[in-house]
Amino acid sequence: MTKWVWKLLFKPGCLWSRWVTQYILKGRDIWHAQSSISLSWYWNNVIKMKDLLLDISGGPEQALALLVRCTARQRFDVSQIYELIRPHSSAVSWAPLVYDKGCHPKHSFIGMLAMQDKLPSIERLISRGIMLINRCSLCLRQCESISHLFFTCEFSAQVWGIVAARLHLQGVIFYLHATVNILLTARRNSLHNAGLLASIYYIWKERNSRIFQGIASSPEDLSSKIVCMVTRRLGV
Ligand SMILES: [Zn+2]
Repeated sequence: MTKWVWKLLFKPGCLWSRWVTQYILKGRDIWHAQSSISLSWYWNNVIKMKDLLLDISGGPEQALALLVRCTARQRFDVSQIYELIRPHSSAVSWAPLVYDKGCHPKHSFIGMLAMQDKLPSIERLISRGIMLINRCSLCLRQCESISHLFFTCEFSAQVWGIVAARLHLQGVIFYLHATVNILLTARRNSLHNAGLLASIYYIWKERNSRIFQGIASSPEDLSSKIVCMVTRRLGV
């Protein structure tokens, strides 16, 4: 989106810039343009990025200087502007685990959501005001929360227990964060990291398959699938 702001300022002669200047900006400059419900979603987002540039730089001249810094050989460098405008925060302790190259990206993504308690568990949906009966679809006994699903639930504990034993992971604890801490403090082991994230992914998938499709697997089948997937991916 910022690239379009850049294009208007650095390529004023191109057909798109001339059209926008005449029909949308009506001759005014981009820095004073306002968003409006009568304008397209796309254009309103360009305006949002223009406002963000003004906020982080302090004014039109400074924003222009910032865009000059992001220009190389008459081209806009998206990575530079992204680095300037993206929110910066300190790295989370579990980052080395989810960024381990041995982990499947899909598993890392679901793992990241689980660590942050962002997966839409029944507990989370109820906290948003959605009326549901809170019962874990895996053990059918306790309430479903992320801490229960990974791994205090007896079904998940069975799955994780088999996976951990087959991957020779010592000191297994049936709590997600405690297990993550063990893996982070131990010497890096891609097989163990991939095993944990694959377990989280497949337990979540199993939960969804039971709720939405009525299909259930046994802990033995699920853990075999996890071990097979991880060892094949890592070639061990
Ligand atoms: Zn359960």
